[in-house]
Amino acid sequence: MRNVPVLIVGGGLAGLTSSLFLARQGVPSLLVDRHPGVSIHGKARGINQRTMEIYRAYGIADAVARAGAPFDEESGVAFCESLAGEWKWLVDADEPRAWPDLTAGEFCMADQNTVEPVLIEAARAAGAEHLRDTEMISFDVDADGVTATLHHRSTGDREQVRARYLVAADGNRSTIRSRLGIARTMERTFMHTANIVFRADLAPFVPRRALFWIIANPGGFSGGLVSAADPNRWQASVAYDPAVESAADFTEHRCTALVRAAVGAEIDVEIEGVGVWEQAVGVAEQYRRGRVFLVGDSAHVWPPAGALGANTGVQDAHNLAWKLAAVLGGRAGDDLLDTYDAERRPVAEALAPAIVAHQEARMGGGSDGGSGGAELDNRAAVLGASYAPCPEPGPAGRPCVGHRAPHLWLGAVAAHDLFVDEFVLLCDSPEWMEAARSAGVRAHRADHADGWAERYGSGAVLVRPDGYVAWCSTRAASAPDLAHDLADALDRALHPAPPTNR
Ligand SMILES: Cc1cc2nc3c(=O)[nH]c(=O)nc-3n(C[C@H](O)[C@H](O)[C@H](O)COP(=O)(O)OP(=O)(O)OC[C@H]3O[C@@H](n4cnc5c(N)ncnc54)[C@H](O)[C@@H]3O)c2cc1C
Repeated sequence: MRNVPVLIVGGGLAGLTSSLFLARQGVPSLLVDRHPGVSIHGKARGINQRTMEIYRAYGIADAVARAGAPFDEESGVAFCESLAGEWKWLVDADEPRAWPDLTAGEFCMADQNTVEPVLIEAARAAGAEHLRDTEMISFDVDADGVTATLHHRSTGDREQVRARYLVAADGNRSTIRSRLGIARTMERTFMHTANIVFRADLAPFVPRRALFWIIANPGGFSGGLVSAADPNRWQASVAYDPAVESAADFTEHRCTALVRAAVGAEIDVEIEGVGVWEQAVGVAEQYRRGRVFLVGDSAHVWPPAGALGANTGVQDAHNLAWKLAAVLGGRAGDDLLDTYDAERRPVAEALAPAIVAHQEARMGGGSDGGSGGAELDNRAAVLGASYAPCPEPGPAGRPCVGHRAPHLWLGAVAAHDLFVDEFVLLCDSPEWMEAARSAGVRAHRADHADGWAERYGSGAVLVRPDGYVAWCSTRAASAPDLAHDLADALDRALHPAPPTNR
């Protein structure tokens, strides 16, 4: 039987980033996905500033930005009866992609199917193992680990794998979640959608490229249209009722008619595929059950408005990976793993209703634009996830335990570029550097020219491998026992008190 420390089921963005983050922290893992390759369906496209900040630290932000280059000229949301008709701009000015005062990560549009290869390559280069065309068909959990049965679809062979931990990155319809009997709060399905991927030359009808078009005409088409990285590939989506029809009912003939109705012209169309997905909301009641952890859509789903689905999944993976690495490496106890649920689930529970309201604000009035609902505070949603109250919220950006470390340029490097695979002490004095050396903690000394005092105050800040503040000290550099204080703080970060909200 194959033995691995971590088995990851699901090779979407949550599974792939789990694989990458674990590999970079020295944890071998095996990822399986039932599909033979990357899907042609674009799905997640908006990669937010926080995710790009994390991708920078892992050295893949440039490759992801290159994958997004075809979408650089796109902006706004247009409404029309057909592409050939008149357009009304529902959203015209997009938010700036860079928030230089807050983060070095820049928002990027890049389709899931162009980002996945970047993650696959980086994870494999770091030593991760991936098996495609391989489905996990059953699993049993005991006190020491998980035994899973894999089905290699191309050969029909079955194989058993033994893992210390199982990461369930198996999407919205997670069978792992169902098998464990983990219910979801707020569960509701808004609509079922068929996504038609097609090739056509739409240049004559598209004088300006929108992020997406909402198209409604009485006779033929009511839904959305988005581009793809390939200039002649597009995706049209329409709602359907699963009680009366299925993906098989979207025949080539019907899809061609739908696309022509959306465009408003009898153009040549080549249908490449039809996929179905549901627009739903739901947050798992537990993110951890023993040896199993839910990440990404298996843990939470909500509508696409705000582009926070996959981004939140990446941040789940980021939060979990260093904890698994610390426990598997013998540096932390099992209680640290409980903090994954305690930290990440409340983030999703707060985001879910806010995103539903945001979707209603954007689309709620039906096809011609928003009514009702409430816009999302984008910067707070993207950068503001926090795991503890801030007892003394200081001037904007001051470090606070349980909050994302403030952005700061340290010469050519952003502070978050340093937070990859271990705790880092940011400090401003040689005494703290020496204390870090004695305590065995990696440290970086900021120069006052970096703006350290304005952003970080004085003293030292211990930052977790996921960029969150573990501890702040304002003790003077001349104070005794700095190394002892630091070692003690690190120990408390790795051996936390049991969470209270489980
Ligand atoms: C139209 C649309 C637009 C979106 N836009 C955005 C956006 O701009 N930004 C954003 O952040 N999010 C967006 N989202 C949401 C985003 O796509 C999802 O949140 C994200 O893709 C979920 O990733 P995941 O890895 O959790 O799950 P998935 O991508 O669903 O991956 C799950 C994987 O698990 C595999 N699997 C399942 N069961 C098994 C098994 N038993 N054995 C082996 N493999 C298995 C499946 O094959 C699948 O590949 C959008 C979604 C849609 C539908």
